[in-house]
Amino acid sequence: MKGSEVLEKILRGNKRFVQGERTGICNPVDVDLGAMVHFQSPIAAVLSCSDSRVPPEHVLDKKIGEIFVVRVAGKVPGPSVIGSLEYAVLNLKVPLLLVLGHENCGAVKAALEGKGDEVGGALGGIIRELEPVVKPTLMKGEDVAEVMHNAVDATVRYTMARIQELSPVIAAAVRKGELLVKGAIYSLSTSEVTVLEEEG
Ligand SMILES: [Zn+2]
Repeated sequence: MKGSEVLEKILRGNKRFVQGERTGICNPVDVDLGAMVHFQSPIAAVLSCSDSRVPPEHVLDKKIGEIFVVRVAGKVPGPSVIGSLEYAVLNLKVPLLLVLGHENCGAVKAALEGKGDEVGGALGGIIRELEPVVKPTLMKGEDVAEVMHNAVDATVRYTMARIQELSPVIAAAVRKGELLVKGAIYSLSTSEVTVLEEEG
């Protein structure tokens, strides 16, 4: 399946989730776990925030074995994240990498408030990485909700670009047309996943 076809399939799963017609992880009756003991063949890699309200298998209505998920607060692309995604791209040959941000992300909010130094520790590091990414969005929004939305959008785009900067092998897969990298935002209010439009 091509990356664009996988994206359509992923979005159909989110539609089922929104409409309350889940068939995936919540209803795994037709999953052959035995067939997966020695082998996995996910259709996509998904990098999302660790936020408990945004489990990709649920909100995209996917079954066990269907998506290779990497989760980290703020979906910041650190070395372990990049390494895990390289495994999905190189070994599992996924044709799609979806970076999934979400509405009201705590990490993004903390970055907007410039809390990195105050929080300190490793968590402060995550927030500090996002601070310069979200700073330009502070000037643009009409209200808090719009600033927040724009900031989440900016962090998704940052992560998409940064993964390819930090991983020559992932960048090469994109260049060769073997991998499609897409960004999307999950709305906590509507449960809908909206794919970000390409920047012109
Ligand atoms: Zn979050």
